[in-house]
Amino acid sequence: MPRTVIRARRLFDSCSPSGSHEHMAVVVENGRITDITQAQDLGSDLGDATVYDYEDGCLLPGFVDSHVHLMYGTAGRMGGPRSYHHVNDEDSDSLMLLRCVRNAYIHLLAGVTTMRDCGARNRVTFDFKAGLKADLFGLAPNVLVSGRSLTHTGGHFYFCGEEADGPDECRKAVRRLVKEGADFIKVMGSGGGTYITQPRLPGFTVEELKVIQDEARRNDKRTTIHVLATQSIVNAVEARFDCLEHVEFVEPDSSRQYHPEIARMIADSGCWVSPTIQTGFRGYERLSHKRESEGLMPGEEASYLALKAKQETNLHTCGELHRMGVRMIVGTDAIGDFGDYSPGPELMVKAGMSAGEVLVAATRHGAEALDLSDEVGTIERGKAADLVVVEGNPTTDIRAIRNVKQVFRRGTAVPMDASLLFYRGPGAIRGRRRLILPQPIQKALLDR
Ligand SMILES: [Zn+2]
Repeated sequence: MPRTVIRARRLFDSCSPSGSHEHMAVVVENGRITDITQAQDLGSDLGDATVYDYEDGCLLPGFVDSHVHLMYGTAGRMGGPRSYHHVNDEDSDSLMLLRCVRNAYIHLLAGVTTMRDCGARNRVTFDFKAGLKADLFGLAPNVLVSGRSLTHTGGHFYFCGEEADGPDECRKAVRRLVKEGADFIKVMGSGGGTYITQPRLPGFTVEELKVIQDEARRNDKRTTIHVLATQSIVNAVEARFDCLEHVEFVEPDSSRQYHPEIARMIADSGCWVSPTIQTGFRGYERLSHKRESEGLMPGEEASYLALKAKQETNLHTCGELHRMGVRMIVGTDAIGDFGDYSPGPELMVKAGMSAGEVLVAATRHGAEALDLSDEVGTIERGKAADLVVVEGNPTTDIRAIRNVKQVFRRGTAVPMDASLLFYRGPGAIRGRRRLILPQPIQKALLDR
């Protein structure tokens, strides 16, 4: 059977956060890793093997993104308080489904071989998943979907179409989602960017959350929950959710206040935290740069200060949670831009984690949190050969993960110029949709 041999200057297997191995080779057969060895031990006669050499590259397990929204990826249209609604009003489910394909491939090219979609409208991601299962696309990434995120009436992402109130409706919602194909259950535990909701207030009672968790467990599904409000974090931990998203400690007066005793509860519960630390980072970066170069418009100063406060408190929280021993994973919350994975890991290093710890969070811990660690997350014999090669040494400078040289999906090299096919355009129709038929068709219709 044909072998693939990947040789690299360095290999970070993610089995531990400390250090990488030098001059290594990974052997792949039938999409699985069959050997990991010093390159020189492999000898020079590799028979009919396909050989890849990366003399300044570091070979890592493919990255895991625990939090994306594949139906969006609408860049500039995601700004502003009513942004979701503009996109939801103007775009059909079919357009969103097409964007899922584009976004998944763009993310794959940034090294993300596994991604978890945390909320989409109607059947959009269920249908996307069905397309993947039907083998419509080659070398597609691993995608887990929640389908519609579960929210209370009028709660964050209510427009997905899965509102539930009270224990009975919550149980039924979980059963309905599982029936339709949910790989896991995503819950909105507080308000968020949906303009009619309040990030400072919890959405569900502990009783409702316990029912959701119980029903998910009975169906062998994991749960994750969006929690911005401090009280929503407490509620989710009490209900023993498997994973918390964001964890921003937003107080009833909308200020942000880290609580060490709640962090202790999170650590003791053993749940995963997906801090989505990069949300708002690109906007903050843009405004900071503009502020220094040409100065901000009066309206922009407030946004700049809000984003700055959010960045600073999120860095502090992430560092503190890590020091408490909370198990961290990496999620981009990609909504505007896909293929921009590196800011999260870079910020987690800034928050106080070592580069090795962040790389483990981005790979092995991500796979464990998604219940995929038998298949992916480390470079070990028997695992699927979902791999990424970056230029330089990410264990000494995490920014190396910006420079993805090659992605392997199940041992096959992904054509990196696929970005020519899956274009990083705005992802949206400019202006309102209007039905414009070509002249001859208009004439034919009029003549009928
Ligand atoms: Zn999200």
